[in-house]
Amino acid sequence: MADAFDERRRGLEEEYFHRKNKEAIEKLREKMKVAEEAKAAGTSSMRCPRCDGNLQESKVEEVSIDTCDKCGGVWLDSGELEQLTKHEGGGFFGKLFGG
Ligand SMILES: [Zn+2]
Repeated sequence: MADAFDERRRGLEEEYFHRKNKEAIEKLREKMKVAEEAKAAGTSSMRCPRCDGNLQESKVEEVSIDTCDKCGGVWLDSGELEQLTKHEGGGFFGKLFGG
């Protein structure tokens, strides 16, 4: 009896996580789609996490960064900081982060 109950519960848990995963993946896909469309249109889809201003894409040393048009905050995508610090000659960011 207990086994049957356990199995049923396990099944429900699996179903729950499966559904959650699916939702997360679909949300991620949706986000990526929005970002791609925005990129194609030459605008950033991102909102500033700090003040809700618009993030404008600009280039620093060949790396595109997002700058807020309201508070001036600068946001980097994953890997972009690395790209900036890796730059030869120890540029501004390189010095800043001990590159
Ligand atoms: Zn901002």
